[in-house]
Amino acid sequence: MRSSLVFSDATARSLHEALQAAPFVERAAFLLCTEVRTDRSCKLIVNQVVSVRPEDYLRQHTAGMSLASPAYTSAAKIARDAGSSIIFVHSHPSGALYFSDQDDREEPKLIEFFKARVPGRTHGALVVCDGCMVGRIYMPEPAALDVIAEWGAQWKVHAGASVAKQDIFDRSIRAIGRDGQALLGQLVIGVVGAGGTGSAAAQVLARLGVGTLRLFDDDKLEDTNVPRVLGATMGQVGQAKVRVLEEHLRSIGLGTIVDAVEGSICRQDVAAMLRDCDVIFSCVDKEMPRSILMAHHLHYLTPVIDLGVKIEASQQSIKEVWGRITTMTPGSPCLFCRGRISAEGLRLEAMRLDERSAQVRQGYAPELDEPAPAVVAYTSAVASMAAAEFLARLFLPGARKSLGDESLMRLDLGTVRSNSGTRRANCICANDVSFAAGDVLPHLGLSWG
Ligand SMILES: [Zn+2]
Ligand SMILES: [Zn+2]
Repeated sequence: MRSSLVFSDATARSLHEALQAAPFVERAAFLLCTEVRTDRSCKLIVNQVVSVRPEDYLRQHTAGMSLASPAYTSAAKIARDAGSSIIFVHSHPSGALYFSDQDDREEPKLIEFFKARVPGRTHGALVVCDGCMVGRIYMPEPAALDVIAEWGAQWKVHAGASVAKQDIFDRSIRAIGRDGQALLGQLVIGVVGAGGTGSAAAQVLARLGVGTLRLFDDDKLEDTNVPRVLGATMGQVGQAKVRVLEEHLRSIGLGTIVDAVEGSICRQDVAAMLRDCDVIFSCVDKEMPRSILMAHHLHYLTPVIDLGVKIEASQQSIKEVWGRITTMTPGSPCLFCRGRISAEGLRLEAMRLDERSAQVRQGYAPELDEPAPAVVAYTSAVASMAAAEFLARLFLPGARKSLGDESLMRLDLGTVRSNSGTRRANCICANDVSFAAGDVLPHLGLSWG
């Protein structure tokens, strides 16, 4: 079973602050986490960092530390009340980014204590050394955490050991390094939508060396899609778009694990399958799936990169071409805050076709949608830019912080500008109840049809 531990910017910062308060001796802290289990993965979402009071350190030096029992019991009590998993964290100022022999000896007793206090939850331990992390959880045997992610403006992702395929990815490794390439191989990326932007994004991600791609779409390939869907052929018209894309990605031969889900994320059971993903590319053209991805992001802290392409044309003549890439990380303004989706837009979209026609006649709704203009040059360009955004978040420290979370492109003019947006105080993204809540009933707190 794959395992991950995820931090928001705020929880990551508070952990680093707690450990750096005395950088030359070992320090400790406890992470209280929401546990999310699927049949494939165990994700622990850090909700709270409990630091250790100075008087609870009995002994502290560069390669050792012991805590008074109240430190453990008070953390376990908070975890028990909240039903949280507990991760015991300590620093290794000595520079050793691994669990020591002493850690190996003492940790099982600690885990037994956590299990007795908070039964039925997965507990574990984390070692932090010079900003890097390694961790393990007990399920019930100890197993290394595959991915530890700090989802701030800049993403910091610590992956377990794996080896990049040096020969194939040689040219990429020259840019992002061996560790970077190995990290891509460890990630599970969701691509929602397998049309023009989705097929292009998935293809770029596969060629980048992303280990696992999970594709979501419920549409069948039509002949009018073939000019934009990369990898699709006229011979495949009528097949499910995700199957077409899956076949194409496999045929590239880079060993990408492709997992095609033929279904709409507007269905509860399909939306639940997003939980195994580390990052999600939103390549949809409707507001409802965007709002579901946003709710998913808030509950599970999974970053979502949302892509949009809009061609303004009249009488078969291009006026303006817009591309948009909005990245949602914990704490950033959401698509409602930014006005990219709205309650009114969702209402109109949800209305049945006949109701909508009646409203149009009465002047309450805009004209019914004609198929929007779409051109492969623009859908592919925005998908590639979104993949570049993903690389910037992972591998270009500091690059995004100053620029903000949204890029707007005028593809007809060849210009790009970025903005930070503003969070609205009364928006659903400011709702503390859903933030990092993990599994709730009904799923994502939404009413499902
Ligand atoms: Zn240690
Ligand atoms: Zn918002």
